[in-house]
Amino acid sequence: VSQGCYDIVVIGAGPSGAVASSLLADYGYNVLVLEKEHFPRFSIGESLLPQSMEFLERAGMLQAVIEAGFQYKNGAAFSRGSEYDCFDFRQKFSSGWGTTYQVQRERFDKILADCASAHGVDVRYGQTVVAINSTTEGVQVDVASQDGSLFQVKAKFILDGSGFGRVLPRLMQLEKASTLASRVSLFTHVADNISDSGFDRNKILITVHPDHPAVWYWLIPFSNGRASVGVVLPRELFSTIDGSESEILQRFIAESAMLNDFLVNAEFDTRVGIIDGYSCDVESLYGDNFTLLGNAGEFLDPVFSSGVTIALKSASLAADVVHRQLQGLEPDWQTEYSDPLMQGVNTFRAFVEGWYDGRLQDVIFATDKSDQVKDMISSILAGYAWDIKNPYVRVPSRLTTLAELCRQ
Ligand code: FAD
Repeated sequence: VSQGCYDIVVIGAGPSGAVASSLLADYGYNVLVLEKEHFPRFSIGESLLPQSMEFLERAGMLQAVIEAGFQYKNGAAFSRGSEYDCFDFRQKFSSGWGTTYQVQRERFDKILADCASAHGVDVRYGQTVVAINSTTEGVQVDVASQDGSLFQVKAKFILDGSGFGRVLPRLMQLEKASTLASRVSLFTHVADNISDSGFDRNKILITVHPDHPAVWYWLIPFSNGRASVGVVLPRELFSTIDGSESEILQRFIAESAMLNDFLVNAEFDTRVGIIDGYSCDVESLYGDNFTLLGNAGEFLDPVFSSGVTIALKSASLAADVVHRQLQGLEPDWQTEYSDPLMQGVNTFRAFVEGWYDGRLQDVIFATDKSDQVKDMISSILAGYAWDIKNPYVRVPSRLTTLAELCRQ
């Protein structure tokens, strides 16, 4: 059964789908978002970066996010044994927002999707995209509705914002293995009951395991006395460990003295979630009448909280290129979308690689970094990974020389 024609169909109402659809509705297009779940729904990825504020602002969603009362965030703190350093994102090389929020994604994503609706996007929940076919005029999309019915919609263009659903990469055989090692993450929400004044609620805390440099934890406080806590570990290590997911997470937390002290009175009242092998990649971010947004394209690693920022950057870039395409301007998706997006993704990739091989950890924990270098690193940690004026964005391999200097 055919149920209508749209200019654009977007798969998924997560951050990338909400922002892309909203910007395209602002351009005057008739946009349909098909979302498998009902919102609010849980999602991992709760610490935003200041760079993301620019994209929320452009999409007309920033006021709603500010008014929601999320936890204010002004930086990132890092601990490794007795070493500790923090980056205040207001002190950074690039211009732009220096603060942001740590958000419960069920609320955050609903706010963004509701903003998209308010901009005129037709957002439909409980609708799963199951197939697509290219046609001479665009695409035909097969949808399985939660009521058991199947229907089709037609569009001139389709954007995939399905995140780990990876709808178009799977349907179009675009999936490619990530070059990053396979890692597992265990996480939960707690009533944190942190009274220690040494804990800065305005920052994410990233802690390195005392014996395993490749194992690290996040502690992301929320504004309601709760916090998200998670551990990331190499797949080979995880597969040697016995116990339930909850036991493993709590055992790892107990092994870090600082984290254990902070969470000594925490109530572990929520189920522990697991994501096994989260890194993924694709052969191409675009093709005839389609493009991939956010996690439906490449996902690197959660260590720098870059996922939502990359998702929103991709949405912001893609909306403009789709607009040019639908105006008949025949944009070059490689140079107008893929290359500019990958510039920042590759900066984060270099930092993720540097984190796991120890170079970046040694830079972060070096006590004698110059203020200038610290500001440049702070900028990238704040999400300004596309600012090529920053020498560590222009040539990310400079990190190697910097690490050598820090180790002397
Ligand atoms: P998503 O937010 O995943 O949204 C995709 C939507 O598509 C979902 O609502 C889904 O229901 C829908 N969908 C899926 N399949 C279909 C279908 N067939 N039909 C219709 N709808 C469909 N990022 C950060 O910025 N900060 C962090 O602190 C952070 N921590 C992370 C920790 C871990 C362990 C992991 C794995 C990731 C983390 N991330 C973090 C990354 C972040 O979760 C993602 O990058 C971000 O959610 C991507 O947004 P998106 O819009 O691309 O996709």
